[in-house]
Amino acid sequence: MIYLDYQATTPLAPEAREAMLRWLGGPDSDTFGNPHSSHRMGRMAAAAVEVAREQVAALFPPGGRVIFTGCATEAINLAILGSGSGGTVAVSAIEHAAVLDTAKAAATVHPLAVSHDGICDPAQALPGDTRLVAVMQVNNEIGTVQPCAQWYRKARQAGALYLCDAVQAYGKMPVAEADMIAISAHKFHGPKGVGAIWLRDGVMLGEVQTGGGQEHGLRSGTLSPALIAGFGAAARVAAERREEDAAHVEALWKRARDLFAGWTLNGSENQRWHGNLNIRLDGLDVNRLMSDCRNVMFSAGSACASGSGRPSHVLKAIGLSDRQAKSSIRLGFGRYTSLADIEEAAARIKAAAKEQGL
Ligand code: PLP
Repeated sequence: MIYLDYQATTPLAPEAREAMLRWLGGPDSDTFGNPHSSHRMGRMAAAAVEVAREQVAALFPPGGRVIFTGCATEAINLAILGSGSGGTVAVSAIEHAAVLDTAKAAATVHPLAVSHDGICDPAQALPGDTRLVAVMQVNNEIGTVQPCAQWYRKARQAGALYLCDAVQAYGKMPVAEADMIAISAHKFHGPKGVGAIWLRDGVMLGEVQTGGGQEHGLRSGTLSPALIAGFGAAARVAAERREEDAAHVEALWKRARDLFAGWTLNGSENQRWHGNLNIRLDGLDVNRLMSDCRNVMFSAGSACASGSGRPSHVLKAIGLSDRQAKSSIRLGFGRYTSLADIEEAAARIKAAAKEQGL
């Protein structure tokens, strides 16, 4: 099987796996303590959590704190719901459903337009009562990188908070400056089931999940030392390998672009994370293609939207027709993808497209 769906999730790094094993804690071990218990085993688990917190924090700008959550969706819910209710929340039209749907539940939503290239232009106006602006760093469907520094400045000038969903950026490039930043371990070779919200010093949130008051009262519930240790190790490895990983992705991108030269790229070529190749071929039946290429794992849009039958809201927002959106595929690759994987996958996909007379 060839795995080309790195935006949906990534393989666990061996270093992250190793770090997790110790904290899985069988009956003969001393590593299954509750990190919120005050006895010795509890304090050992809490210390492991704090080591990981430092490792995760090291990839953020200085002057903030990391609050662990169960995933990025939960982190985004905490940021949007915990920062107030009512008013207007301005969100780019290409945000993940975790932002779009939570904003809708919390406030009046002002959609921010996105260009044909997949970029959300900070020159556009914000409504006067905007209390929160959410523009993601790297889009999960088309990989476009947003002008976050300008959005942060603009939100500040408007007296609003700026939330950046950096799920697809963290571990791959420096994260954007923002008031609140959401991330998820499984998108950069950490385990599934753990995420975080980074809060700039001075940003105060209300409780969304009530209970034992863990994580400074912001996220009640027992933390998982094993998942968090894996998260920390993945962050450490991402920091150590950032240049090597980026160079590898660049080489994969060049090869993939050559191999799919006859296909049309969705979204900007250059203002983009090059581990995301979202392309279309007029007339392509993507469902048939996917069933003909069962051993190649790729996506027909975002993992969340695929299967729903609805054309992707991101591809629609950048001006594609329903037909164009439905003839698009997303190939995602990274650290553990080889050039041979890209070549083999391209050969199979192109052969299956040819069977469709394309
Ligand atoms: N934001 C973006 C950009 C994503 O790609 C995803 C996952 O697909 C999420 C948020 C949600 O992340 P999680 O799976 O940790 O809830």
